Amino acid sequence: MYVCDNCSTVRILKVFLVICLSLVLLQYLINLATYSYVTKFLKDDSYGSHNRSAIGLFFPDVSDFFKNLQSVQEKNVTRSASENLTLPSEPANMTEIVTNIPSGKDDIGNLCPLVPPTLVGALATYKEVLSFEEMQKKYPELQAGGRYKPPDCKSRHRVAIIVPYRNREDQLKILLNNLHPVLERQQLDYAIYITEMAMPTTFNRAILMNIGYTEALKDYDFQCFIFHDVDLIPENDRNLYTCPENPRHMSVAIDKFNYKLPYAAIFGGVSALTKEHMIKVNGFSNKYFGWGGEDDDMMKRIQLSGLKLSRAPIELARYKMIKHGRDKANEVNKQRFNLLYAASKRAKKDGLNSLKYEVVKKEYKPTYTWVYVQVNQKEIMKS
Ligand code: UDP
Ligand code: MN
Repeated sequence: MYVCDNCSTVRILKVFLVICLSLVLLQYLINLATYSYVTKFLKDDSYGSHNRSAIGLFFPDVSDFFKNLQSVQEKNVTRSASENLTLPSEPANMTEIVTNIPSGKDDIGNLCPLVPPTLVGALATYKEVLSFEEMQKKYPELQAGGRYKPPDCKSRHRVAIIVPYRNREDQLKILLNNLHPVLERQQLDYAIYITEMAMPTTFNRAILMNIGYTEALKDYDFQCFIFHDVDLIPENDRNLYTCPENPRHMSVAIDKFNYKLPYAAIFGGVSALTKEHMIKVNGFSNKYFGWGGEDDDMMKRIQLSGLKLSRAPIELARYKMIKHGRDKANEVNKQRFNLLYAASKRAKKDGLNSLKYEVVKKEYKPTYTWVYVQVNQKEIMKS
Protein backbone atom coordinates (compact mmCIF):
# COMPACT_ATOMS: atom_id res chain seq x y z
CA MET A 1 0.00 0.00 0.00
CA TYR A 2 1.26 3.40 -0.89
CA VAL A 3 1.36 5.71 2.17
CA CYS A 4 4.18 8.05 1.79
CA ASP A 5 6.86 8.52 -0.74
CA ASN A 6 9.30 10.43 1.40
CA CYS A 7 8.81 8.72 4.71
CA SER A 8 12.48 8.38 5.63
CA THR A 9 13.21 12.02 4.72
CA VAL A 10 10.32 13.21 6.83
CA ARG A 11 11.46 11.05 9.72
CA ILE A 12 15.00 12.40 9.48
CA LEU A 13 13.65 15.92 9.41
CA LYS A 14 11.53 15.25 12.48
CA VAL A 15 14.48 13.79 14.40
CA PHE A 16 16.58 16.74 13.36
CA LEU A 17 13.93 19.17 14.57
CA VAL A 18 13.63 17.40 17.92
CA ILE A 19 17.43 17.50 18.38
CA CYS A 20 17.51 21.22 17.58
CA LEU A 21 14.70 22.00 19.99
CA SER A 22 16.35 19.93 22.74
CA LEU A 23 19.64 21.75 22.23
CA VAL A 24 17.94 25.13 22.46
CA LEU A 25 16.12 24.02 25.63
CA LEU A 26 19.35 22.68 27.14
CA GLN A 27 21.17 25.92 26.41
CA TYR A 28 18.33 27.87 28.01
CA LEU A 29 18.43 25.71 31.15
CA ILE A 30 22.21 26.04 31.46
CA ASN A 31 21.95 29.82 31.14
CA LEU A 32 19.19 29.92 33.72
CA ALA A 33 21.21 27.81 36.17
CA THR A 34 24.34 29.90 35.65
CA TYR A 35 22.44 33.12 36.00
CA SER A 36 20.77 32.15 39.28
CA TYR A 37 24.11 30.91 40.66
CA VAL A 38 25.84 34.12 39.63
CA THR A 39 23.07 36.30 41.04
CA LYS A 40 23.31 34.46 44.35
CA PHE A 41 27.08 34.94 44.38
CA LEU A 42 26.62 38.65 43.79
CA LYS A 43 24.14 39.21 46.59
CA ASP A 44 27.13 39.69 48.89
CA ASP A 45 27.31 43.45 49.45
CA SER A 46 31.06 43.50 49.28
CA TYR A 47 30.85 43.04 45.52
CA GLY A 48 29.42 46.48 45.02
CA SER A 49 26.14 47.68 43.62
CA HIS A 50 27.16 47.97 39.99
CA ASN A 51 26.14 44.43 39.13
CA ARG A 52 25.17 44.03 35.54
CA SER A 53 26.51 40.63 34.72
CA ALA A 54 29.16 38.44 36.26
CA ILE A 55 28.90 35.84 33.57
CA GLY A 56 32.26 37.03 32.30
CA LEU A 57 33.89 35.46 35.33
CA PHE A 58 32.69 32.08 34.19
CA PHE A 59 32.46 32.63 30.44
CA PRO A 60 34.83 35.47 29.57
CA ASP A 61 33.87 35.22 25.92
CA VAL A 62 30.38 36.41 26.81
CA SER A 63 31.97 39.39 28.49
CA ASP A 64 33.91 40.03 25.28
CA PHE A 65 30.56 40.23 23.57
CA PHE A 66 29.40 42.85 26.07
CA LYS A 67 32.65 44.75 25.67
CA ASN A 68 32.22 44.91 21.91
CA LEU A 69 28.60 45.88 22.24
CA GLN A 70 29.49 48.70 24.57
CA SER A 71 32.36 49.99 22.51
CA VAL A 72 29.86 50.32 19.67
CA GLN A 73 27.39 52.13 21.94
CA GLU A 74 30.15 54.32 23.33
CA LYS A 75 30.42 56.26 20.06
CA ASN A 76 27.12 57.96 20.81
CA VAL A 77 27.90 58.83 24.41
CA THR A 78 28.90 62.25 25.66
CA ARG A 79 29.40 63.23 29.28
CA SER A 80 26.79 65.64 30.60
CA ALA A 81 27.98 68.89 32.17
CA SER A 82 26.48 67.94 35.54
CA GLU A 83 28.56 64.76 35.57
CA ASN A 84 31.67 66.89 35.40
CA LEU A 85 30.56 69.36 38.02
CA THR A 86 29.01 67.36 40.86
CA LEU A 87 32.02 66.01 42.70
CA PRO A 88 31.99 64.86 46.29
CA SER A 89 34.35 66.85 48.48
CA GLU A 90 35.23 63.95 50.78
CA PRO A 91 38.18 61.70 50.09
CA ALA A 92 37.37 58.55 48.14
CA ASN A 93 37.54 56.30 51.16
CA MET A 94 37.73 57.25 54.82
CA THR A 95 38.91 53.85 55.97
CA GLU A 96 42.30 54.13 54.31
CA ILE A 97 45.08 52.26 56.01
CA VAL A 98 47.48 54.84 57.40
CA THR A 99 50.76 53.21 56.62
CA ASN A 100 53.27 55.67 57.83
CA ILE A 101 52.50 56.84 61.35
CA PRO A 102 55.82 58.12 62.62
CA SER A 103 57.09 56.93 65.98
CA GLY A 104 58.52 60.23 67.26
CA LYS A 105 56.05 62.63 68.89
CA ASP A 106 57.46 65.62 67.01
CA ASP A 107 56.70 64.06 63.65
CA ILE A 108 53.01 63.52 64.35
CA GLY A 109 52.20 67.19 63.96
CA ASN A 110 53.84 67.07 60.58
CA LEU A 111 51.72 64.21 59.19
CA CYS A 112 50.02 65.19 55.92
CA PRO A 113 46.31 66.02 56.27
CA LEU A 114 43.78 63.18 55.85
CA VAL A 115 42.29 64.99 52.87
CA PRO A 116 45.03 66.26 50.56
CA PRO A 117 44.33 69.99 50.21
CA THR A 118 45.20 70.61 46.55
CA LEU A 119 43.02 68.00 44.82
CA VAL A 120 41.01 69.39 41.94
CA GLY A 121 38.52 66.58 41.17
CA ALA A 122 37.71 65.98 37.50
CA LEU A 123 40.73 66.38 35.23
CA ALA A 124 41.33 67.29 31.65
CA THR A 125 43.74 64.48 30.80
CA TYR A 126 46.97 65.17 28.89
CA LYS A 127 46.89 63.46 25.50
CA GLU A 128 50.18 64.67 24.06
CA VAL A 129 53.20 62.39 24.02
CA LEU A 130 56.10 64.15 25.76
CA SER A 131 59.62 62.82 25.37
CA PHE A 132 61.26 61.44 28.52
CA GLU A 133 63.59 64.50 28.54
CA GLU A 134 60.62 66.88 28.41
CA MET A 135 58.98 64.94 31.21
CA GLN A 136 62.12 65.13 33.35
CA LYS A 137 62.09 68.91 32.92
CA LYS A 138 58.37 69.12 33.66
CA TYR A 139 58.70 67.13 36.90
CA PRO A 140 62.04 68.20 38.43
CA GLU A 141 60.81 67.34 41.94
CA LEU A 142 61.01 63.61 41.12
CA GLN A 143 63.94 61.63 42.48
CA ALA A 144 65.68 58.89 40.49
CA GLY A 145 63.35 55.98 39.80
CA GLY A 146 60.27 58.21 39.55
CA ARG A 147 60.19 58.60 43.35
CA TYR A 148 58.44 61.34 45.26
CA LYS A 149 57.67 62.38 48.83
CA PRO A 150 55.66 65.47 49.77
CA PRO A 151 58.13 68.22 50.73
CA ASP A 152 56.15 69.82 53.58
CA CYS A 153 54.65 66.92 55.49
CA LYS A 154 55.10 63.24 56.20
CA SER A 155 53.00 61.13 53.85
CA ARG A 156 50.49 58.68 55.28
CA HIS A 157 51.01 56.17 52.46
CA ARG A 158 54.03 54.37 51.01
CA VAL A 159 52.83 53.30 47.58
CA ALA A 160 54.46 51.46 44.68
CA ILE A 161 52.71 51.72 41.31
CA ILE A 162 53.44 48.59 39.26
CA VAL A 163 52.87 48.78 35.49
CA PRO A 164 53.17 45.57 33.40
CA TYR A 165 54.72 46.66 30.15
CA ARG A 166 55.89 45.74 26.67
CA ASN A 167 56.26 47.80 23.52
CA ARG A 168 53.78 50.60 24.29
CA GLU A 169 56.11 53.56 24.63
CA ASP A 170 53.66 56.29 23.67
CA GLN A 171 51.09 54.94 26.13
CA LEU A 172 53.74 54.83 28.84
CA LYS A 173 54.69 58.45 28.19
CA ILE A 174 51.05 59.55 28.33
CA LEU A 175 50.48 57.58 31.54
CA LEU A 176 53.53 59.03 33.32
CA ASN A 177 52.61 62.58 32.31
CA ASN A 178 49.13 62.11 33.78
CA LEU A 179 49.96 60.02 36.83
CA HIS A 180 52.81 61.98 38.42
CA PRO A 181 50.85 65.20 39.01
CA VAL A 182 47.90 63.24 40.44
CA LEU A 183 50.06 61.21 42.83
CA GLU A 184 51.95 64.31 43.92
CA ARG A 185 48.73 66.16 44.70
CA GLN A 186 47.58 63.10 46.68
CA GLN A 187 50.68 63.61 48.87
CA LEU A 188 51.88 60.05 48.53
CA ASP A 189 55.31 58.69 49.28
CA TYR A 190 55.52 56.75 46.02
CA ALA A 191 57.49 55.33 43.12
CA ILE A 192 56.47 54.05 39.68
CA TYR A 193 57.80 50.66 38.54
CA ILE A 194 57.63 49.62 34.90
CA THR A 195 58.12 45.85 34.69
CA GLU A 196 58.95 44.64 31.21
CA MET A 197 59.29 41.11 29.82
CA ALA A 198 61.98 40.23 27.30
CA MET A 199 60.81 38.86 23.93
CA PRO A 200 59.94 36.41 22.49
CA THR A 201 58.15 34.93 25.50
CA THR A 202 54.36 35.37 25.37
CA PHE A 203 53.28 38.31 27.53
CA ASN A 204 52.35 37.49 31.13
CA ARG A 205 50.73 40.42 32.91
CA ALA A 206 50.31 38.67 36.26
CA ILE A 207 53.90 37.49 36.67
CA LEU A 208 55.01 41.07 35.95
CA MET A 209 52.81 42.24 38.85
CA ASN A 210 54.50 39.70 41.17
CA ILE A 211 57.93 40.75 39.92
CA GLY A 212 57.15 44.47 40.34
CA TYR A 213 55.95 43.83 43.89
CA THR A 214 59.09 41.84 44.75
CA GLU A 215 61.52 44.30 43.16
CA ALA A 216 59.81 47.35 44.73
CA LEU A 217 60.12 45.79 48.20
CA LYS A 218 63.86 45.36 47.65
CA ASP A 219 64.10 49.17 47.30
CA TYR A 220 61.84 50.47 50.06
CA ASP A 221 59.33 49.41 52.69
CA PHE A 222 56.26 50.01 50.50
CA GLN A 223 52.99 49.14 52.15
CA CYS A 224 50.54 49.57 49.30
CA PHE A 225 50.75 48.31 45.71
CA ILE A 226 48.71 49.66 42.82
CA PHE A 227 48.73 47.35 39.80
CA HIS A 228 48.13 49.57 36.80
CA ASP A 229 47.58 48.88 33.08
CA VAL A 230 49.65 51.24 30.96
CA ASP A 231 46.68 52.37 28.87
CA LEU A 232 44.36 53.60 31.65
CA ILE A 233 44.45 57.32 32.36
CA PRO A 234 42.79 58.58 35.57
CA GLU A 235 40.20 61.31 35.06
CA ASN A 236 39.77 62.37 38.67
CA ASP A 237 42.41 62.98 41.33
CA ARG A 238 39.96 62.24 44.17
CA ASN A 239 40.30 58.58 43.20
CA LEU A 240 42.98 57.98 45.81
CA TYR A 241 45.94 55.74 44.99
CA THR A 242 45.99 54.23 48.46
CA CYS A 243 45.05 50.88 50.00
CA PRO A 244 41.95 50.33 52.11
CA GLU A 245 41.34 47.40 54.46
CA ASN A 246 40.34 45.09 51.63
CA PRO A 247 41.77 44.70 48.11
CA ARG A 248 40.31 47.43 45.97
CA HIS A 249 39.38 47.47 42.31
CA MET A 250 39.99 51.01 41.06
CA SER A 251 39.23 51.18 37.34
CA VAL A 252 35.48 50.94 37.88
CA ALA A 253 34.29 53.35 35.20
CA ILE A 254 36.23 53.21 31.89
CA ASP A 255 35.15 55.25 28.87
CA LYS A 256 35.54 52.19 26.63
CA PHE A 257 32.87 50.41 28.67
CA ASN A 258 30.58 53.41 28.76
CA TYR A 259 31.72 54.20 32.34
CA LYS A 260 30.09 51.02 33.66
CA LEU A 261 31.54 47.75 34.93
CA PRO A 262 31.62 45.30 31.99
CA TYR A 263 30.88 42.46 34.46
CA ALA A 264 30.34 42.53 38.17
CA ALA A 265 33.28 40.44 39.33
CA ILE A 266 35.90 42.25 37.25
CA PHE A 267 39.27 42.93 38.89
CA GLY A 268 41.44 43.92 35.90
CA GLY A 269 42.79 47.33 34.88
CA VAL A 270 43.85 49.11 38.05
CA SER A 271 43.75 47.46 41.49
CA ALA A 272 45.19 48.11 44.95
CA LEU A 273 46.48 45.55 47.45
CA THR A 274 48.52 46.01 50.62
CA LYS A 275 51.63 43.98 51.31
CA GLU A 276 49.56 41.94 53.79
CA HIS A 277 46.90 41.23 51.16
CA MET A 278 49.57 40.11 48.69
CA ILE A 279 51.11 37.75 51.23
CA LYS A 280 47.71 36.39 52.22
CA VAL A 281 46.68 35.59 48.62
CA ASN A 282 50.19 34.47 47.59
CA GLY A 283 50.27 37.22 44.94
CA PHE A 284 49.04 36.56 41.41
CA SER A 285 49.27 33.23 39.60
CA ASN A 286 52.45 33.00 37.48
CA LYS A 287 50.92 30.73 34.86
CA TYR A 288 48.77 33.01 32.71
CA PHE A 289 50.74 33.53 29.50
CA GLY A 290 48.74 35.48 26.90
CA TRP A 291 45.61 37.55 27.24
CA GLY A 292 42.90 36.93 29.82
CA GLY A 293 42.02 35.12 33.02
CA GLU A 294 44.73 36.32 35.39
CA ASP A 295 42.54 39.02 36.98
CA ASP A 296 39.65 36.59 37.51
CA ASP A 297 42.16 34.22 39.10
CA MET A 298 43.14 36.97 41.55
CA MET A 299 39.48 37.54 42.34
CA LYS A 300 39.20 33.86 43.25
CA ARG A 301 42.26 34.15 45.49
CA ILE A 302 40.71 37.10 47.29
CA GLN A 303 37.49 35.17 47.91
CA LEU A 304 39.41 32.08 48.97
CA SER A 305 41.48 33.93 51.55
CA GLY A 306 38.41 35.43 53.21
CA LEU A 307 39.08 38.98 52.08
CA LYS A 308 36.29 41.11 50.63
CA LEU A 309 36.41 43.19 47.52
CA SER A 310 36.28 46.93 47.82
CA ARG A 311 35.46 49.13 44.85
CA ALA A 312 36.43 52.74 44.38
CA PRO A 313 33.38 55.03 44.03
CA ILE A 314 32.08 54.89 40.48
CA GLU A 315 31.77 58.68 40.18
CA LEU A 316 35.47 59.14 40.99
CA ALA A 317 37.09 56.00 39.62
CA ARG A 318 36.83 57.15 36.01
CA TYR A 319 39.46 56.29 33.39
CA LYS A 320 40.16 56.86 29.73
CA MET A 321 41.56 53.84 27.92
CA ILE A 322 44.06 54.65 25.20
CA LYS A 323 42.94 52.83 22.06
CA HIS A 324 45.00 49.84 20.98
CA GLY A 325 44.73 46.58 19.09
CA ARG A 326 45.63 43.06 20.29
CA ASP A 327 49.38 42.63 20.67
CA LYS A 328 51.16 39.94 18.65
CA ALA A 329 52.89 38.29 21.59
CA ASN A 330 49.77 38.51 23.78
CA GLU A 331 47.36 36.20 21.99
CA VAL A 332 44.20 35.14 23.80
CA ASN A 333 45.24 32.47 26.29
CA LYS A 334 43.35 29.31 25.33
CA GLN A 335 44.40 27.66 28.59
CA ARG A 336 42.69 30.29 30.70
CA PHE A 337 39.51 28.33 31.43
CA ASN A 338 41.46 25.26 32.55
CA LEU A 339 43.71 27.40 34.71
CA LEU A 340 40.73 29.25 36.19
CA TYR A 341 38.93 26.00 36.88
CA ALA A 342 41.78 24.81 39.09
CA ALA A 343 42.61 28.27 40.47
CA SER A 344 41.64 27.53 44.06
CA LYS A 345 43.65 24.34 44.15
CA ARG A 346 46.75 26.05 42.78
CA ALA A 347 46.66 29.28 44.80
CA LYS A 348 48.81 28.03 47.68
CA LYS A 349 51.68 26.80 45.54
CA ASP A 350 51.54 29.05 42.46
CA GLY A 351 52.32 32.68 43.18
CA LEU A 352 54.81 34.74 45.18
CA ASN A 353 56.18 31.59 46.85
CA SER A 354 57.03 29.95 43.51
CA LEU A 355 58.07 33.10 41.62
CA LYS A 356 61.16 32.65 39.43
CA TYR A 357 62.66 35.23 37.07
CA GLU A 358 65.93 36.78 36.07
CA VAL A 359 66.48 40.54 36.24
CA VAL A 360 68.25 41.55 33.04
CA LYS A 361 68.30 45.27 33.93
CA LYS A 362 67.03 47.44 36.75
CA GLU A 363 67.45 51.15 36.14
CA TYR A 364 66.36 54.12 38.21
CA LYS A 365 65.34 56.47 35.40
CA PRO A 366 64.31 60.10 36.05
CA THR A 367 60.56 59.44 35.87
CA TYR A 368 60.26 55.69 36.60
CA THR A 369 62.10 52.59 37.71
CA TRP A 370 62.61 50.14 34.87
CA VAL A 371 62.73 46.43 35.70
CA TYR A 372 63.53 44.34 32.63
CA VAL A 373 63.22 40.60 33.17
CA GLN A 374 63.45 37.22 31.52
CA VAL A 375 61.07 34.45 32.50
CA ASN A 376 61.11 30.81 31.50
CA GLN A 377 57.62 29.86 30.35
CA LYS A 378 58.31 26.13 30.05
CA GLU A 379 59.72 25.86 33.54
CA ILE A 380 56.89 27.91 35.06
CA MET A 381 54.20 25.81 33.37
CA LYS A 382 55.90 22.57 34.46
CA SER A 383 56.16 23.40 38.16
N1 UDP B 1 50.60 45.02 27.96
C1 UDP B 1 51.69 45.62 27.35
N2 UDP B 1 52.13 45.16 26.15
C2 UDP B 1 51.56 44.11 25.52
C3 UDP B 1 50.43 43.51 26.14
C4 UDP B 1 49.97 43.99 27.34
O1 UDP B 1 52.25 46.59 27.86
O2 UDP B 1 52.02 43.71 24.44
C5 UDP B 1 50.17 45.45 29.31
C6 UDP B 1 49.66 46.87 29.35
O3 UDP B 1 49.90 47.41 30.62
C7 UDP B 1 48.19 46.67 29.11
C8 UDP B 1 47.92 45.42 29.93
O4 UDP B 1 49.10 44.65 29.78
O5 UDP B 1 47.43 47.77 29.51
C9 UDP B 1 46.69 44.65 29.53
O6 UDP B 1 46.75 44.27 28.17
P1 UDP B 1 45.69 44.80 27.09
O7 UDP B 1 45.64 46.29 27.20
O8 UDP B 1 46.05 44.24 25.77
O9 UDP B 1 44.34 44.15 27.59
P2 UDP B 1 42.88 44.79 27.71
O10 UDP B 1 42.69 44.95 29.19
O11 UDP B 1 42.85 46.08 26.97
O12 UDP B 1 41.97 43.77 27.12
MN1 MN C 1 44.06 47.73 27.29
